[in-house]
Amino acid sequence: MGMDVIGKKPSTEEGKYFRNNVWWWRPLAGYCCEVAPEITSKCTYWQSNDGDGLGKRDAIKLADVLQKEIESGRTLSFQRRYTSAQEMTANEPCPICAGTGTRLPVPHRGAGDPKTTGIKCNGCDGNGTRRPYSTDYPFDVENVQKFVAFLRGCGGFQIC
Ligand SMILES: [Zn+2]
Repeated sequence: MGMDVIGKKPSTEEGKYFRNNVWWWRPLAGYCCEVAPEITSKCTYWQSNDGDGLGKRDAIKLADVLQKEIESGRTLSFQRRYTSAQEMTANEPCPICAGTGTRLPVPHRGAGDPKTTGIKCNGCDGNGTRRPYSTDYPFDVENVQKFVAFLRGCGGFQIC
C-alpha cells in the first residue's frame, strides 16, 4: 500500500508530491505528531488515505519545527533509539508454520509433519521464528529532511 501525500498548491518541484510507502510513512507521521502535537492535531487522519492534511501555514510551521529538531541533533538521537529498539525486539514464532519450521503444503497454514506431507517453511526459511512486523517500519533523518523540503513548497497537503 502506498501513501500519496500531495501538495495542494505547490511552489517547488519537491512540494508537488511526497513519495513514501506505508512502511516509511507510518513512523514519519508518528514522529511529526510527537514533536509538534499542537500543529499536527489539526490533521486527524495521518495514518490513512482519507484526504486529511494541513493547510499552507501549518505545513510551514511543521517544517520549521522539524528543521529545528534535525539541527539540534534530536532527530538523529530519535533515529538511533528507534533503530536500536527494533534491533532489540525478539523474533516471534512464525505464523505460517506455527513456529515449527515445517509447514503444511500450500495453501494451508500450520505445523506440518516432516515425516509425511510437511515441507520446509518458506515464511521463516525453516527456522520457526521471524522478525516481528514492527521491524519493517524504518525511520531516518534523511526522510525527515525530505519531508521538510516537501512541506516548505507544498502550499498545504492532503494524504490520499
Ligand atoms: Zn515458518
